[in-house]
Amino acid sequence: MTTTTTAPLAAATSTLVTNIATLVTNDHDAVEDAEDGLLGLVRDAAVVIAGDRVAWVGAADRAPAADNRVDAGGRTLLPGFVDSHSHLLFAGDRGEEFAARMSGRPYTAGGIRTTVEATRAAPDERLAANLVRHVREALRQGTTTLETKSGYGLTVEDEARALRIAEEHVDEVTYLGAHVVPPEYADDPAGYVDLVTGPMLDACALHARWVDVFCERGAFDGDQARAILTAGMARGLVPRVHAGQLGPGPGVRLAVELDAASADHCTHLTDADVDALANSRTVATLLPGCDFSTRAPYPDARRLLDAGVTVALSTDCNPGSSYTSSMPFCVALAVRELGMTPDEAVWAATAGGAAALRRIDIGRVTPGARADLVLLDAPSHVHLAYRPGVPLVAAVWQRGTRVL
Ligand SMILES: [Zn+2]
Repeated sequence: MTTTTTAPLAAATSTLVTNIATLVTNDHDAVEDAEDGLLGLVRDAAVVIAGDRVAWVGAADRAPAADNRVDAGGRTLLPGFVDSHSHLLFAGDRGEEFAARMSGRPYTAGGIRTTVEATRAAPDERLAANLVRHVREALRQGTTTLETKSGYGLTVEDEARALRIAEEHVDEVTYLGAHVVPPEYADDPAGYVDLVTGPMLDACALHARWVDVFCERGAFDGDQARAILTAGMARGLVPRVHAGQLGPGPGVRLAVELDAASADHCTHLTDADVDALANSRTVATLLPGCDFSTRAPYPDARRLLDAGVTVALSTDCNPGSSYTSSMPFCVALAVRELGMTPDEAVWAATAGGAAALRRIDIGRVTPGARADLVLLDAPSHVHLAYRPGVPLVAAVWQRGTRVL
Protein backbone atom coordinates (compact mmCIF):
# COMPACT_ATOMS: atom_id res chain seq x y z
CA MET A 1 0.00 0.00 0.00
CA THR A 2 1.20 3.52 -0.72
CA THR A 3 0.07 6.69 1.01
CA THR A 4 0.67 9.93 -0.85
CA THR A 5 0.12 13.35 0.60
CA THR A 6 -1.34 15.64 -2.03
CA ALA A 7 -2.14 18.65 0.15
CA PRO A 8 -0.86 20.12 3.42
CA LEU A 9 -2.41 18.48 6.48
CA ALA A 10 -5.30 20.57 7.79
CA ALA A 11 -7.26 20.36 11.02
CA ALA A 12 -9.98 18.01 9.74
CA THR A 13 -7.84 16.00 7.36
CA SER A 14 -9.60 13.92 4.75
CA THR A 15 -8.32 10.66 3.29
CA LEU A 16 -9.46 8.96 0.09
CA VAL A 17 -9.13 5.16 0.21
CA THR A 18 -9.51 4.01 -3.37
CA ASN A 19 -8.95 1.02 -5.67
CA ILE A 20 -11.08 -1.16 -3.37
CA ALA A 21 -12.12 -4.31 -5.30
CA THR A 22 -14.93 -5.17 -2.86
CA LEU A 23 -16.39 -2.77 -0.31
CA VAL A 24 -18.81 -4.08 2.33
CA THR A 25 -21.13 -1.22 3.39
CA ASN A 26 -23.87 -3.29 5.15
CA ASP A 27 -26.44 -0.75 3.96
CA HIS A 28 -27.41 -0.70 0.28
CA ASP A 29 -30.07 1.96 0.93
CA ALA A 30 -27.56 4.50 2.21
CA VAL A 31 -25.04 4.11 -0.62
CA GLU A 32 -26.05 5.01 -4.17
CA ASP A 33 -23.61 2.65 -5.90
CA ALA A 34 -24.25 -0.37 -3.66
CA GLU A 35 -25.65 -3.62 -5.00
CA ASP A 36 -28.84 -5.00 -3.48
CA GLY A 37 -28.26 -7.66 -0.85
CA LEU A 38 -27.36 -8.04 2.77
CA LEU A 39 -23.85 -6.57 2.55
CA GLY A 40 -24.59 -3.65 0.21
CA LEU A 41 -21.43 -4.41 -1.78
CA VAL A 42 -19.76 -1.82 -3.97
CA ARG A 43 -17.25 -3.08 -6.56
CA ASP A 44 -14.30 -0.89 -7.64
CA ALA A 45 -15.10 1.40 -4.75
CA ALA A 46 -13.69 4.30 -2.78
CA VAL A 47 -14.28 5.74 0.69
CA VAL A 48 -13.47 9.20 2.02
CA ILE A 49 -12.65 9.55 5.71
CA ALA A 50 -12.91 13.01 7.30
CA GLY A 51 -11.87 13.29 10.92
CA ASP A 52 -13.29 10.30 12.78
CA ARG A 53 -16.19 9.74 10.36
CA VAL A 54 -16.89 8.28 6.94
CA ALA A 55 -17.66 11.26 4.69
CA TRP A 56 -18.32 9.65 1.30
CA VAL A 57 -18.81 6.12 -0.12
CA GLY A 58 -19.26 5.01 -3.72
CA ALA A 59 -17.74 3.98 -7.04
CA ALA A 60 -14.07 4.96 -7.30
CA ASP A 61 -14.55 6.80 -10.61
CA ARG A 62 -16.94 9.24 -8.92
CA ALA A 63 -14.86 9.84 -5.78
CA PRO A 64 -14.26 13.44 -4.65
CA ALA A 65 -10.78 14.79 -3.94
CA ALA A 66 -9.26 14.53 -0.47
CA ASP A 67 -6.11 15.65 1.33
CA ASN A 68 -4.52 12.18 1.33
CA ARG A 69 -4.85 9.17 -0.92
CA VAL A 70 -4.49 5.50 0.03
CA ASP A 71 -4.37 2.85 -2.71
CA ALA A 72 -6.11 -0.29 -1.42
CA GLY A 73 -4.45 -2.34 -4.16
CA GLY A 74 -7.57 -4.10 -5.42
CA ARG A 75 -8.36 -5.60 -2.03
CA THR A 76 -11.41 -5.70 0.29
CA LEU A 77 -12.57 -3.03 2.74
CA LEU A 78 -15.22 -3.75 5.36
CA PRO A 79 -16.47 -2.28 8.64
CA GLY A 80 -14.33 -3.09 11.67
CA PHE A 81 -15.59 -6.13 13.55
CA VAL A 82 -17.93 -5.45 16.47
CA ASP A 83 -17.22 -8.02 19.19
CA SER A 84 -20.25 -7.64 21.44
CA HIS A 85 -19.41 -10.30 24.06
CA SER A 86 -16.12 -10.80 25.89
CA HIS A 87 -14.79 -11.34 29.41
CA LEU A 88 -11.39 -9.65 29.50
CA LEU A 89 -11.09 -8.50 33.13
CA PHE A 90 -9.24 -11.51 34.46
CA ALA A 91 -5.91 -12.84 35.64
CA GLY A 92 -4.44 -16.30 35.51
CA ASP A 93 -4.21 -19.05 32.92
CA ARG A 94 -6.40 -22.11 32.40
CA GLY A 95 -4.39 -23.91 29.73
CA GLU A 96 -4.14 -27.01 31.92
CA GLU A 97 -7.92 -27.12 32.36
CA PHE A 98 -8.29 -26.90 28.56
CA ALA A 99 -5.84 -29.76 28.11
CA ALA A 100 -7.75 -31.84 30.68
CA ARG A 101 -11.05 -31.10 28.92
CA MET A 102 -9.60 -32.13 25.60
CA SER A 103 -8.58 -35.35 27.37
CA GLY A 104 -12.21 -36.10 28.22
CA ARG A 105 -13.35 -34.01 31.19
CA PRO A 106 -16.59 -32.05 30.47
CA TYR A 107 -16.95 -28.26 30.82
CA THR A 108 -19.03 -26.99 33.75
CA ALA A 109 -19.73 -23.46 34.96
CA GLY A 110 -17.63 -24.15 38.11
CA GLY A 111 -14.31 -23.57 36.30
CA ILE A 112 -15.05 -19.82 36.49
CA ARG A 113 -14.08 -19.97 40.18
CA THR A 114 -10.45 -20.73 39.26
CA THR A 115 -10.24 -17.39 37.45
CA VAL A 116 -12.07 -15.60 40.28
CA GLU A 117 -9.32 -16.61 42.69
CA ALA A 118 -6.53 -15.38 40.39
CA THR A 119 -8.40 -12.16 39.53
CA ARG A 120 -9.06 -11.19 43.14
CA ALA A 121 -5.34 -11.66 43.91
CA ALA A 122 -4.15 -9.52 40.97
CA PRO A 123 -3.25 -5.83 41.43
CA ASP A 124 -5.13 -3.24 39.33
CA GLU A 125 -2.13 -2.69 37.06
CA ARG A 126 -1.96 -6.35 36.10
CA LEU A 127 -5.70 -6.49 35.31
CA ALA A 128 -5.43 -3.33 33.20
CA ALA A 129 -2.33 -4.55 31.37
CA ASN A 130 -4.00 -7.87 30.61
CA LEU A 131 -7.09 -6.08 29.26
CA VAL A 132 -5.03 -3.76 27.07
CA ARG A 133 -3.03 -6.69 25.70
CA HIS A 134 -6.24 -8.42 24.62
CA VAL A 135 -7.78 -5.24 23.17
CA ARG A 136 -4.66 -4.80 21.01
CA GLU A 137 -4.66 -8.45 20.05
CA ALA A 138 -8.28 -8.09 18.89
CA LEU A 139 -7.48 -4.85 17.01
CA ARG A 140 -4.74 -6.60 15.03
CA GLN A 141 -7.46 -9.02 13.89
CA GLY A 142 -9.80 -6.23 12.84
CA THR A 143 -11.96 -5.70 15.94
CA THR A 144 -12.60 -1.98 16.36
CA THR A 145 -15.40 -2.14 18.96
CA LEU A 146 -15.35 -4.38 22.01
CA GLU A 147 -17.82 -5.07 24.76
CA THR A 148 -16.39 -6.56 27.92
CA LYS A 149 -17.77 -7.68 31.27
CA SER A 150 -16.91 -7.92 34.92
CA GLY A 151 -17.65 -11.27 36.54
CA TYR A 152 -14.39 -12.61 37.91
CA GLY A 153 -14.33 -10.43 41.03
CA LEU A 154 -17.70 -11.29 42.61
CA THR A 155 -17.18 -8.97 45.58
CA VAL A 156 -18.41 -5.38 45.70
CA GLU A 157 -14.87 -3.99 45.44
CA ASP A 158 -13.58 -6.45 42.84
CA GLU A 159 -16.56 -6.03 40.51
CA ALA A 160 -16.44 -2.24 40.75
CA ARG A 161 -12.69 -2.06 40.06
CA ALA A 162 -13.08 -4.38 37.04
CA LEU A 163 -15.67 -2.02 35.57
CA ARG A 164 -13.59 1.08 36.36
CA ILE A 165 -10.65 -0.45 34.48
CA ALA A 166 -12.90 -1.60 31.63
CA GLU A 167 -14.46 1.81 31.02
CA GLU A 168 -10.99 3.28 30.44
CA HIS A 169 -10.16 0.89 27.63
CA VAL A 170 -13.28 -0.40 25.84
CA ASP A 171 -16.41 1.11 24.28
CA GLU A 172 -19.04 -1.03 25.96
CA VAL A 173 -19.01 -2.20 29.58
CA THR A 174 -21.27 -4.80 31.19
CA TYR A 175 -21.92 -5.54 34.86
CA LEU A 176 -21.84 -9.32 35.32
CA GLY A 177 -21.76 -9.72 39.08
CA ALA A 178 -24.10 -12.66 38.40
CA HIS A 179 -21.53 -14.76 36.55
CA VAL A 180 -21.46 -17.55 39.12
CA VAL A 181 -22.14 -17.81 42.88
CA PRO A 182 -18.74 -17.40 44.57
CA PRO A 183 -17.51 -20.09 46.99
CA GLU A 184 -18.16 -17.98 50.10
CA TYR A 185 -21.88 -17.89 49.18
CA ALA A 186 -22.11 -21.57 48.18
CA ASP A 187 -24.59 -22.25 51.01
CA ASP A 188 -26.46 -18.97 50.54
CA PRO A 189 -27.13 -18.25 46.85
CA ALA A 190 -30.11 -16.04 47.78
CA GLY A 191 -27.74 -13.92 49.88
CA TYR A 192 -25.48 -13.53 46.86
CA VAL A 193 -28.40 -12.41 44.67
CA ASP A 194 -29.18 -9.80 47.37
CA LEU A 195 -25.57 -8.59 47.15
CA VAL A 196 -25.65 -8.44 43.32
CA THR A 197 -28.93 -6.52 43.31
CA GLY A 198 -27.98 -4.33 46.30
CA PRO A 199 -24.57 -3.03 47.37
CA MET A 200 -22.70 -4.47 44.38
CA LEU A 201 -25.13 -2.84 41.94
CA ASP A 202 -24.77 0.45 43.85
CA ALA A 203 -21.00 0.30 43.34
CA CYS A 204 -21.17 -0.80 39.69
CA ALA A 205 -24.13 0.92 38.04
CA LEU A 206 -22.27 4.13 37.22
CA HIS A 207 -19.47 2.28 35.45
CA ALA A 208 -21.53 0.14 33.07
CA ARG A 209 -24.15 0.49 30.34
CA TRP A 210 -25.35 -3.12 30.50
CA VAL A 211 -26.40 -5.73 33.07
CA ASP A 212 -25.91 -9.42 32.29
CA VAL A 213 -26.56 -12.74 34.03
CA PHE A 214 -25.37 -16.30 33.41
CA CYS A 215 -28.80 -17.98 33.37
CA GLU A 216 -27.81 -21.63 33.36
CA ARG A 217 -27.90 -24.76 35.48
CA GLY A 218 -25.00 -24.38 37.94
CA ALA A 219 -25.20 -20.57 37.81
CA PHE A 220 -28.50 -18.61 38.16
CA ASP A 221 -32.06 -19.86 37.57
CA GLY A 222 -34.87 -17.95 35.87
CA ASP A 223 -36.23 -16.29 39.02
CA GLN A 224 -32.78 -15.19 40.17
CA ALA A 225 -31.94 -13.94 36.67
CA ARG A 226 -35.17 -11.91 36.54
CA ALA A 227 -34.42 -10.32 39.94
CA ILE A 228 -30.87 -9.41 38.85
CA LEU A 229 -31.84 -7.97 35.47
CA THR A 230 -34.82 -5.97 36.73
CA ALA A 231 -32.73 -4.51 39.56
CA GLY A 232 -30.14 -3.40 36.98
CA MET A 233 -32.85 -1.97 34.72
CA ALA A 234 -34.22 0.06 37.64
CA ARG A 235 -30.76 1.68 37.80
CA GLY A 236 -30.73 2.49 34.07
CA LEU A 237 -28.75 -0.51 32.84
CA VAL A 238 -29.92 -2.35 29.72
CA PRO A 239 -30.16 -6.15 29.98
CA ARG A 240 -28.35 -8.87 28.04
CA VAL A 241 -28.43 -12.54 29.01
CA HIS A 242 -26.19 -15.61 28.80
CA ALA A 243 -28.79 -18.21 27.81
CA GLY A 244 -28.99 -21.71 26.37
CA GLN A 245 -25.28 -22.54 26.48
CA LEU A 246 -25.29 -25.89 28.30
CA GLY A 247 -28.96 -26.82 27.91
CA PRO A 248 -32.39 -25.32 27.29
CA GLY A 249 -33.68 -23.03 30.04
CA PRO A 250 -35.71 -19.91 30.78
CA GLY A 251 -32.99 -17.42 29.74
CA VAL A 252 -34.00 -16.73 26.15
CA ARG A 253 -37.66 -16.08 26.89
CA LEU A 254 -36.69 -13.93 29.87
CA ALA A 255 -34.39 -11.90 27.61
CA VAL A 256 -37.23 -11.32 25.16
CA GLU A 257 -39.73 -10.50 27.91
CA LEU A 258 -37.38 -7.85 29.34
CA ASP A 259 -36.52 -6.49 25.86
CA ALA A 260 -32.86 -7.41 26.37
CA ALA A 261 -30.49 -6.21 23.66
CA SER A 262 -29.16 -9.71 23.21
CA ALA A 263 -29.50 -13.35 24.22
CA ASP A 264 -26.04 -14.86 24.02
CA HIS A 265 -24.99 -18.46 23.20
CA CYS A 266 -28.41 -19.81 22.03
CA THR A 267 -26.89 -23.24 21.47
CA HIS A 268 -29.89 -25.04 22.99
CA LEU A 269 -33.22 -23.55 21.89
CA THR A 270 -36.81 -24.74 21.98
CA ASP A 271 -39.22 -23.81 19.20
CA ALA A 272 -40.84 -21.38 21.66
CA ASP A 273 -37.44 -19.70 22.18
CA VAL A 274 -36.98 -19.24 18.43
CA ASP A 275 -40.52 -17.87 18.04
CA ALA A 276 -39.96 -15.45 20.92
CA LEU A 277 -36.71 -14.16 19.41
CA ALA A 278 -38.27 -13.82 15.96
CA ASN A 279 -41.02 -11.61 17.37
CA SER A 280 -38.69 -9.34 19.33
CA ARG A 281 -35.83 -6.90 18.86
CA THR A 282 -33.54 -9.11 20.97
CA VAL A 283 -30.51 -10.22 18.93
CA ALA A 284 -29.32 -13.84 19.14
CA THR A 285 -25.57 -13.61 19.66
CA LEU A 286 -23.84 -16.85 18.71
CA LEU A 287 -20.44 -17.67 20.21
CA PRO A 288 -19.03 -20.54 18.16
CA GLY A 289 -15.53 -20.19 19.65
CA CYS A 290 -17.03 -21.37 22.94
CA ASP A 291 -18.68 -24.43 21.41
CA PHE A 292 -15.43 -25.16 19.57
CA SER A 293 -13.29 -24.86 22.71
CA THR A 294 -15.61 -26.90 24.92
CA ARG A 295 -16.19 -29.52 22.19
CA ALA A 296 -19.93 -28.79 22.48
CA PRO A 297 -22.65 -28.86 19.81
CA TYR A 298 -22.87 -25.69 17.70
CA PRO A 299 -25.98 -23.48 17.60
CA ASP A 300 -28.16 -23.75 14.51
CA ALA A 301 -27.86 -20.31 12.94
CA ARG A 302 -29.85 -21.46 9.90
CA ARG A 303 -32.89 -22.19 12.06
CA LEU A 304 -32.68 -18.71 13.60
CA LEU A 305 -32.11 -16.86 10.33
CA ASP A 306 -34.90 -18.73 8.55
CA ALA A 307 -37.24 -17.74 11.39
CA GLY A 308 -36.30 -14.09 10.91
CA VAL A 309 -34.13 -13.66 14.03
CA THR A 310 -31.33 -11.07 13.94
CA VAL A 311 -28.05 -12.94 14.52
CA ALA A 312 -24.72 -11.58 15.76
CA LEU A 313 -21.38 -13.37 16.05
CA SER A 314 -18.96 -12.75 18.88
CA THR A 315 -15.85 -14.36 20.37
CA ASP A 316 -16.94 -14.71 24.03
CA CYS A 317 -13.20 -14.26 24.62
CA ASN A 318 -12.52 -15.58 28.14
CA PRO A 319 -9.86 -17.74 29.76
CA GLY A 320 -12.11 -20.73 30.46
CA SER A 321 -14.45 -21.66 27.64
CA SER A 322 -13.37 -19.61 24.60
CA TYR A 323 -9.88 -18.16 24.64
CA THR A 324 -9.97 -16.64 21.16
CA SER A 325 -10.09 -12.93 20.31
CA SER A 326 -10.44 -13.65 16.60
CA MET A 327 -13.62 -12.55 14.85
CA PRO A 328 -12.33 -13.97 11.52
CA PHE A 329 -12.07 -17.37 13.24
CA CYS A 330 -15.70 -17.03 14.40
CA VAL A 331 -16.79 -16.10 10.87
CA ALA A 332 -15.07 -19.22 9.52
CA LEU A 333 -16.72 -21.42 12.18
CA ALA A 334 -20.11 -19.84 11.51
CA VAL A 335 -19.90 -20.71 7.84
CA ARG A 336 -18.47 -24.21 8.31
CA GLU A 337 -20.44 -25.28 11.40
CA LEU A 338 -23.47 -23.02 12.00
CA GLY A 339 -25.00 -23.10 8.54
CA MET A 340 -24.43 -19.43 7.72
CA THR A 341 -23.49 -18.17 4.27
CA PRO A 342 -20.26 -16.11 4.08
CA ASP A 343 -22.38 -12.96 3.58
CA GLU A 344 -24.54 -13.71 6.63
CA ALA A 345 -21.50 -14.42 8.80
CA VAL A 346 -19.69 -11.22 7.80
CA TRP A 347 -22.88 -9.20 8.42
CA ALA A 348 -23.34 -10.88 11.83
CA ALA A 349 -19.74 -10.08 12.85
CA THR A 350 -20.12 -6.38 11.96
CA ALA A 351 -23.68 -5.01 11.68
CA GLY A 352 -25.03 -7.85 13.82
CA GLY A 353 -22.64 -6.99 16.66
CA ALA A 354 -23.66 -3.35 16.35
CA ALA A 355 -27.34 -4.37 16.62
CA ALA A 356 -26.55 -6.43 19.72
CA LEU A 357 -25.09 -3.25 21.24
CA ARG A 358 -27.95 -1.09 19.91
CA ARG A 359 -25.48 1.04 17.99
CA ILE A 360 -26.07 2.55 14.55
CA ASP A 361 -22.77 4.44 14.25
CA ILE A 362 -20.64 1.30 13.83
CA GLY A 363 -20.79 -1.95 11.85
CA ARG A 364 -21.40 -0.19 8.52
CA VAL A 365 -19.50 1.93 6.01
CA THR A 366 -21.92 4.72 5.21
CA PRO A 367 -21.69 8.52 5.30
CA GLY A 368 -21.74 9.65 8.93
CA ALA A 369 -20.71 6.30 10.40
CA ARG A 370 -17.64 6.08 12.60
CA ALA A 371 -14.62 5.50 10.37
CA ASP A 372 -13.77 2.02 11.70
CA LEU A 373 -12.45 0.15 8.69
CA VAL A 374 -10.58 -3.06 7.98
CA LEU A 375 -8.58 -3.70 4.82
CA LEU A 376 -8.34 -7.40 3.99
CA ASP A 377 -5.52 -8.83 1.94
CA ALA A 378 -8.09 -10.62 -0.24
CA PRO A 379 -10.26 -9.87 -3.29
CA SER A 380 -13.49 -10.35 -1.32
CA HIS A 381 -14.91 -10.81 2.18
CA VAL A 382 -15.61 -14.48 1.33
CA HIS A 383 -11.94 -15.16 2.03
CA LEU A 384 -12.59 -14.68 5.77
CA ALA A 385 -14.28 -18.10 5.70
CA TYR A 386 -12.51 -19.54 2.65
CA ARG A 387 -9.03 -19.05 4.21
CA PRO A 388 -9.51 -19.98 7.89
CA GLY A 389 -6.66 -19.19 10.26
CA VAL A 390 -4.88 -16.93 7.75
CA PRO A 391 -4.00 -13.41 8.99
CA LEU A 392 -5.74 -11.45 6.21
CA VAL A 393 -6.06 -8.12 8.05
CA ALA A 394 -3.69 -5.72 6.25
CA ALA A 395 -4.74 -2.38 7.77
CA VAL A 396 -7.17 -1.03 10.38
CA TRP A 397 -8.62 2.45 10.87
CA GLN A 398 -10.30 3.23 14.18
CA ARG A 399 -12.26 6.48 14.50
CA GLY A 400 -10.57 7.63 11.28
CA THR A 401 -7.02 7.00 12.48
CA ARG A 402 -4.87 4.35 10.89
CA VAL A 403 -3.91 2.11 13.83
CA LEU A 404 -2.44 -0.88 11.95
ZN1 LIG B 1 -19.86 -15.04 28.11
